[in-house]
Amino acid sequence: MRKRHLYLALILLLAIVGCQKKASNSMTYRELGATGLKVSELSIGCGGFEKLDTLGSIELMTAALDSGMNYIDIYDANPKVRSNIGAALKGRRDEMIIQGHIGTIWQDGQHKRTRDLEETRRGFEDLLQRLGTDHIEVGMIHITDSPEEWAELEGSPFLDYVFQLKKEGKIKHIGVSSHNAEVALTAAKSGWIEVIMFSLNPAFDRLCGGATPWTAGAMDNLQAGIDPIRVEFYDYCTSHQIGVTVMKTFGGGGRLLDEKRSPLGYALTPEQCIAYCLAKPCISTCILGIDNMDELLTDLHYLHATEAEKDYTTAGQTAIASLGGDCTYCNHCSPCSAGIPIARVNELLDLAETNGLSDELKAQYAALTKHGGDCTHCGACLSRCPFSVDIPSRMDRAKAMFGK
Ligand code: SF4
Ligand code: SF4
Repeated sequence: MRKRHLYLALILLLAIVGCQKKASNSMTYRELGATGLKVSELSIGCGGFEKLDTLGSIELMTAALDSGMNYIDIYDANPKVRSNIGAALKGRRDEMIIQGHIGTIWQDGQHKRTRDLEETRRGFEDLLQRLGTDHIEVGMIHITDSPEEWAELEGSPFLDYVFQLKKEGKIKHIGVSSHNAEVALTAAKSGWIEVIMFSLNPAFDRLCGGATPWTAGAMDNLQAGIDPIRVEFYDYCTSHQIGVTVMKTFGGGGRLLDEKRSPLGYALTPEQCIAYCLAKPCISTCILGIDNMDELLTDLHYLHATEAEKDYTTAGQTAIASLGGDCTYCNHCSPCSAGIPIARVNELLDLAETNGLSDELKAQYAALTKHGGDCTHCGACLSRCPFSVDIPSRMDRAKAMFGK
């Protein structure tokens, strides 16, 4: 009996500590469109789990949950990543709202976007099984970036399957991810899309608007200098309660946070990038690529940041260079017909070109199964890159840099 009392006291103590931990971080929650779900303003992507083992994944997920984050995007079809996330959510599944992608599979050690029905079914069942769950909250149709791709989607067996998943309760809401404002707007107007994952940050908004500098009062007029179709998309989602979740908050691969790679010519802070996105009423959450505990803590500083720290107006007063042609390591171009891990090759190339060629980078490059020198210039990857990267010429540059 005494033991039982001690046990209960311990549970109570842990609960109090846990509540204090959550309260001290002051996470704020927003409606996810009309889904009825309330999601944390800051949420976690799955990209960082690529670099972690099971223990590291559990540590990062636990810290994210304890900070109040309750939303995760899982586009990754890598079995290791899915299983590690499943292990990390064990016992806490109910605390995390899962946005899982439909139409991604892992094939020959690479990501593959697919609309093939059998591949899609296999990829989705694998997701549920590895996560240890019988449903996810948001079934996100993976990357639809052109009007042609949207047209192919409508009335397809793939889409019938998505509707069937919703009917069976395996997904609770249907979403789509896109980097294209025209497609995103069409999706918002479809009447059956409830959530849209969209690439948004100060640079993307301004580049698409012709890089017009923001005028004074940009904080009040958030639409200044932005492509009208993006403005229409944001307004439509606000007025029709379509949930928008943000990808590429920091420009993809964190380029906006790095003065050497930022198109602004200087680095923005995480607080500025996050504040910019969350200032739009349609945005429900910023999905952050978090690689480790240090990055999580850095991003969480947003919760305590002053208004001065969040002030992003300088980003609108500087000339902006083109982002086109720069890799964001998003993996959308895979699979490569020669088996090259394109995103990783590009990442190592950028590091070597920016910081110099170190032994560490040489070793990491050598450990890849295929290299830039294996590129056959077939061009199969080009149409899949949303950022117009000249991939074959970058593979040539990687070969010249690393020797193979
Ligand atoms: S062009 Fe090169 S990198 Fe692109 S798919 Fe072909 S072999 Fe792969
Ligand atoms: S080349 Fe394009 S699609 Fe491929 S990882 Fe880079 S930005 Fe993404």
